[in-house]
Amino acid sequence: MSLGEFDLIAKYFTRPVARAALGVGDDCALLAPAPGMQLAVSSDMLVEGRHFLSTVAPDRLGHKALAVNLSDLAACGAAPLGFTLAFSLPRADEVFLEGLARGMFALADEHGIELVGGDTTQGPLNLCLTVFGEVPAGGALLRSGARPGDDLYVSGTVGDARLALEVFRGTLALPGEQFDRVRVAMERPQPRVALGLALRGIASSAIDVSDGLLGDLGHVLKRSEVGASVQVDDVPRSAVLAAQPPAWQRECTLAGGDDYELLFTAAPGDAERVRAAGRSAGVAVTRIGRIEAARGLRLVDAAGAPVAHTFGSFDHFRS
Ligand code: ADP
Ligand code: MG
Repeated sequence: MSLGEFDLIAKYFTRPVARAALGVGDDCALLAPAPGMQLAVSSDMLVEGRHFLSTVAPDRLGHKALAVNLSDLAACGAAPLGFTLAFSLPRADEVFLEGLARGMFALADEHGIELVGGDTTQGPLNLCLTVFGEVPAGGALLRSGARPGDDLYVSGTVGDARLALEVFRGTLALPGEQFDRVRVAMERPQPRVALGLALRGIASSAIDVSDGLLGDLGHVLKRSEVGASVQVDDVPRSAVLAAQPPAWQRECTLAGGDDYELLFTAAPGDAERVRAAGRSAGVAVTRIGRIEAARGLRLVDAAGAPVAHTFGSFDHFRS
């Protein structure tokens, strides 16, 4: 006999909570942010065929569904508290459910975030998570805070997830060992929560790179009412990507998407504090440009020559 809705929730998605005042099982969960903190809330939905391939291992899907949500908390400098999981799936496939829960809870435990509720229905495979975090009142990192003269930084490396996607699409081929490495970037992104916390009070603005570096930078520039210049050859990339043709490197680093690194700005006088934040979070931070008063985005190469760009950002209704 197949598992019913409530057995499924009890078996795979009910765990005791410690930080939340009440978890799964009642009509509402109860969260208890510390006094003086604001609740940071974000939702991300993952749709089969759109955000993930049907061939992805269930534990990696569970990991990624939570990772992309944690990445939004990271971008705001918020500390994770709890999350809800609403999903539909065609049938109560226990191999799938066991893997999904395992991948999701492994990442949840790494970040001290608790599953406190959700909704479960039958339907096409689709996962919608909402994360709740806390941040000191008035202290959230926002897209709107970049100021002319600020340095522009990105964490880690960008572009590998896109490279992996192109291999799946059949556009290019990679030796097996290199493909495994970029596939991990695509399927098991590491949300930069520790870096987001370390950048509180230092970064003037921040966003996580989910739709492509230049497109996401565009959101910051618009909200902050500023422009920027970016040294495209300084954008950090993996050794695997650095071995690809230059045009592919540019496409993947600047417009790749699914990177879940933090793109942020800070005043030049805070450069040493930015480096210290990166060291304390155990992640590289690289300066890739600067914020300018003149609106628009200017790209330059290592020789200082302008680079033409038509790199779009991902838009669900335009692609
Ligand atoms: P309601 O009818 O009040 O919406 P449900 O019967 O849908 O409640 O869910 C029962 C309980 O199980 C609730 O506490 C809900 O938050 C929780 N829940 C349902 N689906 C999930 C899930 N996928 N993960 C975690 N908790 C869930
Ligand atoms: Mg319900």
